[in-house]
Amino acid sequence: MRLVPEAAQRPPTPQAPRRLGAVELVPGRIGAAVLSMAGQVLDRTESRYDAACATPADIDRALAQVAGVFAGHEVQGVGVAAAGLVDPLTGLILEVNDVPALHGYPVTERLAALTGAGVRVEHRARLQVLGDRWFGAGRGRRTFASVSTGEVLGVGVLYEGEVLAPPGGRSGAHMTVSASGERCTCGNRGCWKTLATTGWLRARARAAGLGEETSLGALVRRDDARAGQVVEEYAHNLALGLVNVQQLFAPGLFILHGEAREGGERFRTVVEERLRDAVAFAGAELPRVLVGAAAVDDVALLGGAGLVLSHL
Ligand SMILES: [Zn+2]
Repeated sequence: MRLVPEAAQRPPTPQAPRRLGAVELVPGRIGAAVLSMAGQVLDRTESRYDAACATPADIDRALAQVAGVFAGHEVQGVGVAAAGLVDPLTGLILEVNDVPALHGYPVTERLAALTGAGVRVEHRARLQVLGDRWFGAGRGRRTFASVSTGEVLGVGVLYEGEVLAPPGGRSGAHMTVSASGERCTCGNRGCWKTLATTGWLRARARAAGLGEETSLGALVRRDDARAGQVVEEYAHNLALGLVNVQQLFAPGLFILHGEAREGGERFRTVVEERLRDAVAFAGAELPRVLVGAAAVDDVALLGGAGLVLSHL
């Protein structure tokens, strides 16, 4: 006598594990990755295109090529971290400097058609904070800031659980921090970007007789007084913008990504001390500065994956 139907005796069909999809779209390059729900990059690919000469059809092709990485995975959605000006509501890339083919490009619509998954897009500097919120040092916090340093400078703020991303808002690189400062690429003077990016560091090192092509890491390793002074000044310049963010939103925690990783403990401490000096209110959280642990190449992809998790 059979008590159990045959079908029930068979082991259940193993279900494909749930995955997160992420795409990074920057001038000349599209990266894509499949991540575990815990933010581990399991598979990745990338495609190059000619930023200046590409047509929208070329972008379509590059996108189709990288979307192949999602085939065979149970992705819960795809988050796109895009450079330039983005409209998250319509899923359009509005404008990317030097990439005419991306003006008005419907990236979420194209990727949804290629993958069958739900797709969302956000600016990559803002998304970085979601990578930290889900997979990094911001886990469990409702308010903190995530900072890009190096060639690209910007701050993303998570405030009471929401990414601050008002239409028209930017990521802070063009905050004025010096009334009579250097002329910026945007045409104004004294933007934060003019004195807290790699370009400033190289110029200052050159002026101090420390060589032509140097990096923050190389200056830290030199261990001489002049190099130390340049490093310290760079940390102070970075802190200038962050102090403004602390004054406005009191995020308390600042997670530094990019070049700041090369600055070592001294660099981190200078930034942290400047932020602590700026806290006037005794009841406020004492600011802390941490250096992000994610590999530089993964930061934007983790942000894209975090965008998917935030909407599940
Ligand atoms: Zn500017």
